[in-house]
Amino acid sequence: MKRLLLISLCILALSGCEKASNQVHVRQITSFGTTVEVTLSAVSASDADQALDIIEQELNYMHEQWHAWRPSSITRLNKQLQSGQPFSVDEQLLPLLNQSKELYSKSLSYFNPAIGKLIELWGFYQDNPQITASLPPETMINQLVLSDPNMDNIVISDYEVRGTNSDIQLDFGGYAKGYGVQQLIEQLRARGITNAMVNAGGDIKVIGKRQARNWRVAIDDPYQEQPLGWLYMESGESIFSSGDYRRFFEVDGKRYHHIIDPNTGYPTEQARAATVIAHDPAVADAAATALMVAPQSDWLRIMQNMGLKHILIVTNDGTLHCDQGFAERLTLFSARKPHIIDK
Ligand code: AMP
Ligand code: MG
Repeated sequence: MKRLLLISLCILALSGCEKASNQVHVRQITSFGTTVEVTLSAVSASDADQALDIIEQELNYMHEQWHAWRPSSITRLNKQLQSGQPFSVDEQLLPLLNQSKELYSKSLSYFNPAIGKLIELWGFYQDNPQITASLPPETMINQLVLSDPNMDNIVISDYEVRGTNSDIQLDFGGYAKGYGVQQLIEQLRARGITNAMVNAGGDIKVIGKRQARNWRVAIDDPYQEQPLGWLYMESGESIFSSGDYRRFFEVDGKRYHHIIDPNTGYPTEQARAATVIAHDPAVADAAATALMVAPQSDWLRIMQNMGLKHILIVTNDGTLHCDQGFAERLTLFSARKPHIIDK
């Protein structure tokens, strides 16, 4: 009788544990100008809580450190770079600098986080998502395009860094979110969490599964409120999108958005949205921004150079362009037929 009771208690305890570990834990955190939603699966409530507290602290720290216009490590770094004098850089910033230099060259220089002065000139340095801005003077745009601040103007040797162009102004708005998501995933993994989704306003990395199934994600439609389609994500994949609908203002009925072509100094015109699937979320983030800028003739080279898995671009005429693999995985909500980008 006593033995039976013990066995029953054990079964009860085990099923209790199983229930806890089957639960999905979600936390929403406001950071990087958006809502970051972290979902953990197959983890106990107390482990999830502890991990999510750390994630929240880490997110707030990163957002403050990398802010483009409020006083931050980046605004201090910009002053040092603009001075032209050599200086020793904060160890934590070095991987960010090195990776963004590499992504600049692999993206054929369409992803250029050194053009902060142009982005500021266009009036996008405002916390308010409802941008109020006017067109900047053409002479100032042209002057910055001519001076061509870029990532090759940052010379790094060991821990010493020097800027060679006084117009360099780093703005990691096109990539910090992806870099940050990777840091968070590493934090989760270090705590033994192997099933998670970090969703930073539709920009996502997943590891493992949600309960027994692959994580499922939706893709924004630049033309409509409801998503364009959805797909299942494989463990370790990231999906990031850029679009002209995310931050913009209008003058005389024309839209001016926040992604600037470094070659013209003006908001890009060919694409309305770009979505990238890659392993590293920092790469996916930078690549989605680059694909908003690049002409169609460079899409495939960028895909190969940056090691992207899949790309999807919605051009101004509403056409969806994607590689064959993306088309096979994507379930569209409308009867549109994507145009396959030839390899
Ligand atoms: P995303 O939504 O990732 O495409 O990031 C857009 C942000 O990237 C803008 O708000 C700017 O801060 C920054 N940005 C704009 N144009 C570029 C560019 N050509 N290269 C790198 N960053 C850019
Ligand atoms: Mg980006």
